[in-house]
Amino acid sequence: MIRALALVLVLLAGACGVTRPPSMDLEGADSFEEDVRTARTLSEAFWKQQFEQLGRTYRPLTAFIPYSGRSGPACGNEPAVPNNAFYCPLGHFVAYDQDWMEALWTEMGDGSVYVIIPHEIGHAVQAQLQTGFQLNVQAELQADCYAGGALSALVNSGALRAEEGDEDELLYSLEAAGDPTDDWLDPSAHGTAAQRQASFARGYQNGVSAC
Ligand SMILES: [Zn+2]
Repeated sequence: MIRALALVLVLLAGACGVTRPPSMDLEGADSFEEDVRTARTLSEAFWKQQFEQLGRTYRPLTAFIPYSGRSGPACGNEPAVPNNAFYCPLGHFVAYDQDWMEALWTEMGDGSVYVIIPHEIGHAVQAQLQTGFQLNVQAELQADCYAGGALSALVNSGALRAEEGDEDELLYSLEAAGDPTDDWLDPSAHGTAAQRQASFARGYQNGVSAC
């Protein structure tokens, strides 16, 4: 059954941390926990289908782990840090600081969750496709592209509903988002905001095959 969920495209200029943009959900507001769960479930369902079309089998995440502060799971020798979300290839899991992500959700709208989770699951896809990149930034930009492609497919299928806006706006959410490998806000690590928006938009407009 397709769940009619709203995807709020965040206009950061109008949402500078004061009030939460209204939910576009027809049924009223989804809770933060529901949005996180839905973002994960729909993203993985999308990739399962994509892999099947390639004659492959998507391997679901082994775990999807909320944490607070420094209580998160380590990834090898890398401890989990506050204000972050990450994919760990060693355990094939995604973990996220739930307090931090809920604050983004509150301040920026649910679009933040629908960018960050698909981005991290994009890294899980890269791990399975064994996509080798020389530079971390290439992997990050591809994960942004994957997130855009997955989101547009979900919008086109009716599973999510995008309203008023421009997919580029979602990238402002990513600018505030975390990652394990290094400082998310370091352009050399993740690409400049313009590069990231372009990469996300390429996926959103042309699908994940364009990534
Ligand atoms: Zn990343």
